[in-house]
Amino acid sequence: MTDRIGFIGLGIMGRPMARNLIKAGHQTTVWNRSRPGIEALIADGAEEAANPAEVARRSDLVITIVGDSPDVEEVALGPNGIIEGAHEGLVYIDMSTISPEVTRRISDRLSEANVAMLDAPVSGGDQGAIQGTLSIMVGGKDAAFERCRPVFEVLGKKVVHCGSSGSGQVVKLCNQVAVSLTNLAVCEALTLCRKAGVDPERMIEAVGAGAGSSWQLLNLAPKMLARDFAPGFKIDHQQKDLRHALATAEAIDLPLTGTSLVHQLFAAVQAEGLGGEGTQALVKAVEKLAALKA
Ligand code: NAP
Repeated sequence: MTDRIGFIGLGIMGRPMARNLIKAGHQTTVWNRSRPGIEALIADGAEEAANPAEVARRSDLVITIVGDSPDVEEVALGPNGIIEGAHEGLVYIDMSTISPEVTRRISDRLSEANVAMLDAPVSGGDQGAIQGTLSIMVGGKDAAFERCRPVFEVLGKKVVHCGSSGSGQVVKLCNQVAVSLTNLAVCEALTLCRKAGVDPERMIEAVGAGAGSSWQLLNLAPKMLARDFAPGFKIDHQQKDLRHALATAEAIDLPLTGTSLVHQLFAAVQAEGLGGEGTQALVKAVEKLAALKA
């Protein structure tokens, strides 16, 4: 028998992820703060609950993918939160990217109510969510991880149990450090190519087949060239993740010099009121420094 899934947070990521669970045959109950996300999923066969507590009551496993730490705290522990729907055997999986420290606190609070929690942030963007090919990094107890593995396998192509509660979030922050610095490298390569008067399409083709290739080069550079700044992953979310990475590093006396630099460059794009654009809009800050017109 398939698990009854509760799904909360039907944004860019949550909507296709919930859809994949429905397609895999799971009875799925959803809740979202605003209506549009709910309407879309009901059309796909989901049932609607009045609040997160009711989602929990009607489900074996509850998944959230919302925004930042306070959002997860509100949905999990706030009024009408998941904790109010706690019942024997309930497992809660948070797939948002939030603070590892807050994750451990929420997990401790839920375990007092006999709810096991896994942190399971993801990488792979909106396309990975749509195609069910996400990389999923999981923190939490072995038994809960094994219990939820089949559901992770519907959502992703790579599932790694990273360690105890909060470890999934730490690994996700490592991912965000690597992703954002690679993004900056791609912006600089593209800007160098354009200002030197060479066709950037040729650069993407050649570099994309060599040692300088990356997901960012292959996926974001063509969008930068096409001036397509629609969000797959919003700058505001990237900045939240870099703040968590820098805070986690500071707590262990670790300088992250490159991460600080790219965080400031993203801040320059946010200052222009563009935090809702995709992370490929980082190129605008690099172009501005180069006095290079779009
Ligand atoms: P999004 O499109 O902005 O969607 C966020 C969702 O969370 C929306 O459904 C929103 O509800 C809901 N939400 C936010 N705060 C809430 C609150 N306090 N209470 C209830 N619901 C709340 O964001 P997204 O791109 O899907 O990202 C979601 C999470 O996944 C973030 O933690 C992000 O860092 C992470 N992530 C994103 C990507 C990506 O490529 N997009 C990749 C990996 C990880 P409304 O519809 O009412 O606004």
